[in-house]
Amino acid sequence: MSNDRLKAFVEKVGSFKDVSYVAVSSEGLPYMIKGTERENAEYVAAVASSLYDRINELTMALNLGKEERSKIYYPEDYHMLLFKKDNFVVAIKYDFAIDKLIEALTNNLLKGIEVRCPYCKNDLSFDVVKCPKCGERLPFTEPKCWNCGADLTLKECPHCGNLIYYNGQKPSFIKLLIYKLKRIFGG
Ligand SMILES: [Zn+2]
Ligand SMILES: [Zn+2]
Repeated sequence: MSNDRLKAFVEKVGSFKDVSYVAVSSEGLPYMIKGTERENAEYVAAVASSLYDRINELTMALNLGKEERSKIYYPEDYHMLLFKKDNFVVAIKYDFAIDKLIEALTNNLLKGIEVRCPYCKNDLSFDVVKCPKCGERLPFTEPKCWNCGADLTLKECPHCGNLIYYNGQKPSFIKLLIYKLKRIFGG
């Protein structure tokens, strides 16, 4: 089984400044760790599988249904997201302000969404861009700003700067021309 996608996710998300750590465990053993709070992350990785199972037992017992992910709310503005990917359990501790971003990137991982730049071939599935209108941080794969509604179907690749679609497609010459004219004249 390939876990390249999971590795790419951990590398990207674990390097955000508002993510304390991403801890991955497999069969109860720490497997991958990225982030600043290394000691805590190692501990969490060691207990993540049993923590995940216990939370699921509880939600089942309380008739809250089977959740594929669980979230823990810390009192000091942090959240922890726990989810399963194949036989790995992933725990992410992050600043609550980026809740929507973490959820969206996790969706990309769990739904197997893979976007590559057609020019430089870089993996954009877990890349983050800023909305040019309001500054909100969004996944590259988002076609529209969820904060201000700006149309972000076409944007620059964060690696090579070429204009591409949110799904990795190359725009036609006409589309590029319209985009550039709109930038010049507004609208
Ligand atoms: Zn915006
Ligand atoms: Zn590129």
